Amino acid sequence: MHKNAPFRRGQFTRALIAAAVMSCGTAYAKEVTKADILNDATTTNDVVSFGLGTQGQRFSPLTAVNADTVKDLVPAWSMSFGGEKQRGQESQPVIHNGKMFVTASYSRIFAVDAKTGQKLWKYEHRLPDGIMPCCDVINRGAALYGDLVIFATLDAQLVALNQETGKVVWKEKLGDYKAGYSATAAPIVANGKLITGISGGEFGAVGRIDARDPLTGKLLWTRPTVEGHMGYRFDKAGKQIENGISGTTNATWTGDLWKTGGAATWNGATYDPDTNLIFAGTGNPAPWNSHLRPGDNLFSSSTVAIDADTGKIAWHYQNTPHDGWDFDGVNEFVSFDYKDPKTGKVIKAGGKADRNGFFFVNDRTNGKLLNAFPFVNKITWATGYNLETGRPNTIEEGRPGNPADSADGKKGKSILSAPSFLGGKNQQQMAYSPQTGLFYVPANEWAMDIWNEPVSYKKGAAYLGAGFTIKALNEDYIGTLRAMDPVTGKMVWENKNYAPLWGGVLTTGGGLVFYGTPEGFLKGVDAKTGKELWSFQTGTGIVAPPVTWEQDGEQMIAVTTGWGGAVPLWGGDVAKRVNFLEQGGSVWVFKLHKK
Ligand code: CA
Ligand code: CA
Repeated sequence: MHKNAPFRRGQFTRALIAAAVMSCGTAYAKEVTKADILNDATTTNDVVSFGLGTQGQRFSPLTAVNADTVKDLVPAWSMSFGGEKQRGQESQPVIHNGKMFVTASYSRIFAVDAKTGQKLWKYEHRLPDGIMPCCDVINRGAALYGDLVIFATLDAQLVALNQETGKVVWKEKLGDYKAGYSATAAPIVANGKLITGISGGEFGAVGRIDARDPLTGKLLWTRPTVEGHMGYRFDKAGKQIENGISGTTNATWTGDLWKTGGAATWNGATYDPDTNLIFAGTGNPAPWNSHLRPGDNLFSSSTVAIDADTGKIAWHYQNTPHDGWDFDGVNEFVSFDYKDPKTGKVIKAGGKADRNGFFFVNDRTNGKLLNAFPFVNKITWATGYNLETGRPNTIEEGRPGNPADSADGKKGKSILSAPSFLGGKNQQQMAYSPQTGLFYVPANEWAMDIWNEPVSYKKGAAYLGAGFTIKALNEDYIGTLRAMDPVTGKMVWENKNYAPLWGGVLTTGGGLVFYGTPEGFLKGVDAKTGKELWSFQTGTGIVAPPVTWEQDGEQMIAVTTGWGGAVPLWGGDVAKRVNFLEQGGSVWVFKLHKK
């Protein structure tokens, strides 16, 4: 005993130190790790990525709020973004270590106590005059990594702040805002790399995906999404280590048009750890007037799969070859697995509800088209897809005419085209439930008059060569939340909405689907039937996706509110129809009422 006593004392001391370290650990060692992000979809006490997991399914396994209990959801807290400037709030909050980080219009970010709603800090980015965001001064959310929270700004910068203090740790420039570059998408972290896209497709910007060290902001690789441009990799010192990591010459473009070719990656990307691929949707080829640029114009209006380690394009699938309707294919590509009904084999797939009105299912390992079916009622530009070739069966009369064919050469034949360029689905993120096997797609039924005009590129000027007016197709609704079966291509249910749906969707293990409407309602509906079980009026339009997490044993549901986005700016007749909707700017959080 005596002999062992000192040892036991030492052991005791070490145990004390260990306990102290552990308790410090509880308080401080809460850095967001690679693993936290890779596991985000299954960990219920946090939301550390855009999409509730980098695959973008927006499914939470939480069950406390379910068909029986959802009626008891009540507000836990709400916080205003304040200020005189409101406009569209499209942001998805992220939640970690009891703190919520939420971005707001005009490149603002707030840290809030996730339990009480008490504001901890805010950062307002100083925006220069002359920024050129195409579609409202919105932001879609922040990424978390280490002790940093990172978001993109309207003047095309990335800003990383300390999660505790809100102090800026690093800033990097993504593009020249004077040339029309801006950034609104939420960055994601793919296996330790910070992944970002860029906006500016209406100004002849060149889309690309960048990978950075999230802790320093240093560029690791960059891969442009217009064929003709090469990608580059960089070493730790920032030196280019390889010429043209991938790429071909501008075979699918005429002359120099590829140099200002668009294909903006303005809605960011998803990441699938199974294949180590980053999936980026790309926007319209520039200019809109397709008669000026014969060819497919790769990689515009496509899904581009990029190897996260090397930055090489592993595959691409073009949803709209030779796009002439501004059918930006930026819609999120959501990884999911399903059993082939014929062979019983599990297929690693990805789903995408494209702006062009078709829902695509691709093999996510190689891009092969497995299924393509309409998710809106009226499509005038194509009758469907050939699953062998992967190409659309286009309707030639569905393309707006060439100005060169007109008497004065100034205006091509105008046509009524559906969907409108605002899309069968736009930026609003769909959700996928592994429980029901259904995608929940926030869709819109609308059309446009569209015509082409001559145009030439001028730095910092709109580069469209087209005019348009958006029109509703139905008196009683534009928006419709549709439950789509990706295997059969059938719609299982729909919930129509008077105003266009512009907010994303959340689905849960409790068998529910949550989504917001521009009329201000956050709704909870049955995932199998669409039956509305709960709704709450938030006081302004919702154009953002809800999230859920568990806070001190209680399931919380949060959504950012504030009407705006592209519809009031570009919606034509539709904008007039919904001009009764009011702006705002808040976060709302709900939980079950304790009886
Ligand atoms: Ca999580
Ligand atoms: Ca566009």
